[in-house]
Amino acid sequence: MNQKWVYMFKEGDPKNKNLLGGKGANLADMTQLGLPIPQGFTVTTEACTEYYNNGQALSNEIESQIKSCLVNLEELSGKKFGDNTNPLLVSVRSGARVSMPGMMDTVLNLGLNDEAVVGLANKTENERFAYDSYRRFIQMFSDVVMEIPKPRFEKIIDEMKEAKGVKLDTELDANDLKEMVIRFKALYKEVKGVDFPQDPEVQLMEAVKAVFRSWMNPRAIVYRRMNDYPSSWGTAVNVQMMVFGNMGDTSGTGVAFTRNPSTGENAIYGEYLINAQGEDVVAGIRTPSHISQLEQDMPEVYTEFMNIAHTLENHYHDMQDMEFTVENGKLYFLQTRNGKRTAAAALRIAVDLVAEGQITEEEAVLRVEPKQLDQLLHPMFDAKALKAAKVIGKALPASPGAAAGKVYFTAEDAKEAGAAGERVILVRLETSPEDIEGMAAARGILTVRGGMTSHAAVVARGMGTCCVSGCGEIQINEEEKHFSLGGMTFREGDYISLDGSTGNIYGEDVATVEPEITGDFETFMAWADKYRTLKVRTNADSPKDAQNAVKFGAEGIGLCRTEHMFFEEDRIMKMRKMIVSKTEAERREALDALLPLQKGDFVGIYEAMGERPVTVRLLDPPLHEFLPHTDEDIATLAGEMGITFEDLKATVESLHEFNPMMGHRGCRLAVSYPEIAEMQARAIIEAAIQVKQEKGYDIVPEIMIPLVGEVKELKYVKDIVVAAADKAIAEADVTLTYHVGTMIEIPRAAVTADQIAEEAEFFSFGTNDLTQMTFGFSRDDAGKFLEDYYGKGVYESDPFARLDQTGVGALVQMAAEKGRSTRSDIKLGICGEHGGDPSSIEFCHKVGLNYVSCSPFRVPIARLAAAQAAIKNK
Ligand code: PEP
Ligand code: MG
Repeated sequence: MNQKWVYMFKEGDPKNKNLLGGKGANLADMTQLGLPIPQGFTVTTEACTEYYNNGQALSNEIESQIKSCLVNLEELSGKKFGDNTNPLLVSVRSGARVSMPGMMDTVLNLGLNDEAVVGLANKTENERFAYDSYRRFIQMFSDVVMEIPKPRFEKIIDEMKEAKGVKLDTELDANDLKEMVIRFKALYKEVKGVDFPQDPEVQLMEAVKAVFRSWMNPRAIVYRRMNDYPSSWGTAVNVQMMVFGNMGDTSGTGVAFTRNPSTGENAIYGEYLINAQGEDVVAGIRTPSHISQLEQDMPEVYTEFMNIAHTLENHYHDMQDMEFTVENGKLYFLQTRNGKRTAAAALRIAVDLVAEGQITEEEAVLRVEPKQLDQLLHPMFDAKALKAAKVIGKALPASPGAAAGKVYFTAEDAKEAGAAGERVILVRLETSPEDIEGMAAARGILTVRGGMTSHAAVVARGMGTCCVSGCGEIQINEEEKHFSLGGMTFREGDYISLDGSTGNIYGEDVATVEPEITGDFETFMAWADKYRTLKVRTNADSPKDAQNAVKFGAEGIGLCRTEHMFFEEDRIMKMRKMIVSKTEAERREALDALLPLQKGDFVGIYEAMGERPVTVRLLDPPLHEFLPHTDEDIATLAGEMGITFEDLKATVESLHEFNPMMGHRGCRLAVSYPEIAEMQARAIIEAAIQVKQEKGYDIVPEIMIPLVGEVKELKYVKDIVVAAADKAIAEADVTLTYHVGTMIEIPRAAVTADQIAEEAEFFSFGTNDLTQMTFGFSRDDAGKFLEDYYGKGVYESDPFARLDQTGVGALVQMAAEKGRSTRSDIKLGICGEHGGDPSSIEFCHKVGLNYVSCSPFRVPIARLAAAQAAIKNK
């Protein structure tokens, strides 16, 4: 039998989101539950893949299955495509297996042509409505499917309004709109060289292809990369009979959530517009009414709507985001999906659903996107600063959190300023999906138009970015880059602050503070901790970071980068002195000055961590980060060292490396200058003895030797460490256990891990360097060209952020197995950036590492990701 590429809603398997996409599966589900759904069919995600495999063309078989579903749809609806009495019109929408709001294309009113428009006018007894729908369709089809720029059509509309001396589109009558249709078709012919397609089947095939094409548009690619969705999924296309919310005062359209998507409160939450099309609500062009108004406007419809909303939530056991339309008093649900929500709402909903007996704890743990927890850890306004600040305007609290920064008016400017390290507030009339990168770069987003379900609001909530929307009081000039509000004018680079939880806008830079964590967070994270098997440690180099990490639930330190303890102004000089020393005596003198500083830091870290394990890595300073760069710095250092400028400059030049990341760093320094490892081992051990004696903690330091590629190299440095550590212990006349291990961050170490494990008591995977050296990509430079790789689909994600499981991961797995073959109880962890990335954490769980280690703010994310990995891979 031929493969099935197209499914009517009533025949699709509602569980098969991978094939039908989320929207298609839910439409099948709702149809099969007997809910009022405009009927239609789904072209599968496999057809999308086939379209790409087939050189971006629909195969005959796919086309013929679409056609036969159309015939079915005509029979079901009693309407006919292109008919001049009762025409069938459809919407054509994308639908991947997860929802990607606004990222791909949609075409509405498809099927309208010169005949069908007459049919629509007769059927609805509303000629104006029919021609308005037709001109909208020509515009949308031309823009989305044929890539004719929108402004060319808008120009015609403006010209016609001017000629008639009116301001609003609604002031154009049926005859004007007929004329507009003629002019739109002429424009189409002028650009495309052929007539606007009159055959609805041709329109449909073109629209399906356009939706498939939109899967690979730049904003969809960026969105997928941000969310770790692979391009191999493809999108499905849903073809659904149109119903009209703009047929008068007994029609309307809206969007609603079964619970509040900002707070999680268990109360229906939504907006709708009387006499409008769905796009009017989503695009935020008119400001809609609260859903409770529907109870007054159409009480019976409201009751039915509420019943269905409850049915859907109980069916999916999750908060639903629903689109509905009322056509002449009859209610239709156009789609439902698990609603996007803020992290605070996600936690509250998950905890409430468990309490309501709707889901289990394990299901609840799987419900929250780990990366979303980031939002809870974002800043809020400092209460005192907030009291002193003046509110200059107020709009909708679209996405919570606080943001203060400089105003930028375009996505490009925002992106550029963000990359330059500015705190960015993006101010727009309204946002559109093309703004995604600018929105991602912004700390806060302010829009003049749009409701709580507008594009800006939905996308900002998903990103966890503070957003205030629909501030109609703003007078904005986007081109000249200024806006005024509350009697003040703001230009690019001026400061404002936004409170996404209240909707308040401040005309100044208001100080922000760390957020507070709610009771739901504690309850939820306790469940995550119950189900995970991976331990979560942190990468911390100071007592303050260590304390912070413990607050977030860190169970130890997986990486203390000792060179980071010397970045501060007053310390870097001492470190530089050590680096530029020419003799062992000079170096020992410089090291003596470093020892008390190191020891002091270690004491602080041990105190913060109590008896939790602490892994301290020996110095690994890429030289270019530490050498004095400017003549001024060289002169200062030379002065301090009592040597001449020329002498020091010559030393610095001699230390210059062409490729410092692969230069004299890590254990290589200790091979050349063993006294460095000696000093550090002593500081680590003496600090442990001190804290053990003062606080009674049983501290077992873990000393880690970096950048090892050969077991003899490890053995050489280890012997020095052990001698120095044992000497310090003997001098103090105490007993103290410690471990010596290594990082696996050079491919050769992974390949020879069985030998390395003879000397190492533990491995910690340094996947930053391991990625750099496996790909041969410089950590410092790859960002510059990887963008090209994403754009061209060569790579989908940054291998420095998300572990390349096929290549680098294979080395990790091999090293883990080899390590265990030599030393069955070897402790295995990861401390590269990937240790805080959810998909990489799942990989670490699968290969049986003991712990992951990440920066303090990512500890909660890692705890949750580890729990999800354990539950999914039971
Ligand atoms: C690593 O290489 O993954 C690592 C943790 O070390 P660093 O980033 O300090 O090189
Ligand atoms: Mg490294």
